[in-house]
Amino acid sequence: MLLEHLQAKLDAIRAQDLTRFTRIAETGTAPRQTVRGSDGTARELLMFCSNDYLGLAAHPAVADALAEGARRYGGGSGASPLVSGHSRAHHEVEALLGRWFEPHIPNARAIGFCTGYMANLAVVTALGDGDAEIFSETLNHASLIDGTRLAKAPVTRYGHCDVDGLRALLAASTARIKLIVTDAVFSMDGDIAPLPALLALAEDFDAWLIVDDAHGLGVLGELGVGSLEHFGLRSERLIVVGTLGKAAGLAGAFVVAHETVTDYLLQAARNYIFSTASPPAVEHALLTSLALMRGELGRERRMHLRALQARLRAGIAALLDRHPSLPWRLADSQSPIQPLIVGGNAEVMALAAALEREGLRVPGIRPPTVPKGEARLRITLCATHAQADVDRLVAALEACA
Ligand code: PMP
Repeated sequence: MLLEHLQAKLDAIRAQDLTRFTRIAETGTAPRQTVRGSDGTARELLMFCSNDYLGLAAHPAVADALAEGARRYGGGSGASPLVSGHSRAHHEVEALLGRWFEPHIPNARAIGFCTGYMANLAVVTALGDGDAEIFSETLNHASLIDGTRLAKAPVTRYGHCDVDGLRALLAASTARIKLIVTDAVFSMDGDIAPLPALLALAEDFDAWLIVDDAHGLGVLGELGVGSLEHFGLRSERLIVVGTLGKAAGLAGAFVVAHETVTDYLLQAARNYIFSTASPPAVEHALLTSLALMRGELGRERRMHLRALQARLRAGIAALLDRHPSLPWRLADSQSPIQPLIVGGNAEVMALAAALEREGLRVPGIRPPTVPKGEARLRITLCATHAQADVDRLVAALEACA
């Protein structure tokens, strides 16, 4: 009975062109990966879909540090952090991130998690207890949404970047603890939340601002500290989640906040307490990748990334000018996530397949991840792309148009 029930659901998903699938990457790191086609032959694809924004996943110093970490600590951590899984490397990564954020959050301290998904669940469920009300932005990442579903606090959604709407909701709230929860860079749209205005609201209404900076860390700001640096923000009311599997090129995540908040998470966050700590070798390698991210190499790669963004936007704008009847629209994004909104599910998948025949891998994103009728190519740029790679994508889009 269960199998028939699930098969019917799978059939319904397929009927709507919404089937999701994985592809096996044989080798390679961003922006080139070798995959096998349906006929079994291996091909190298130029990818516009990795979140390895700075190309640090493949940096030789990061790989060396990972190997050195494995020699020093072995493979896995063997236990949850509060048992015996918290290594010197875990401690140093947390200390380093605390120092990075001290200019933005007084008494900043960081606490590590295995993934960004877990860090988001942790912070929203632990802080969103019965005394709180959560104000959640409509386009937040699934992990924040799942956190609000698990939290005991009532949840009020506010519109995308709708500061005035949020002000009215905060003004009407009688909750003792108010938590505003938002992505910094929206993962399917690439736009940046109005964090200065949200922080001003937090200050006016005695609320706290939880910012998921998964796509801002390493990318935004002169030093790559992310969205707080980008906007020059500093407040005790800021609670930031950063992920380390994207621009930092490895894996893991952290919450950084006033030390009372992180002390409490250590006592109360169930997915910190009851889950095996991340592999210490990964933490050891993070010390290298985070140093590269903040240093000269990171600065140069951020500048290159911004130049690529500008080149892609200009290229697609010119293409759309040449083909005014095309129903495509480039989202208004100021980040390396540059979505090209195509419309229908079948159309976007056909476009992605046509690009793949040209040797380019650009994922089609469909509902429910994005609104109905707004299926899109989610073009993601990395600092390891050359300008010629961007030109190749624009030319291929034109050929497919
Ligand atoms: N937040 C956002 C905005 C994300 O895009 C993602 C990853 N797609 C996450 C959180 C989850 O991070 P992780 O991949 O480390 O679980």
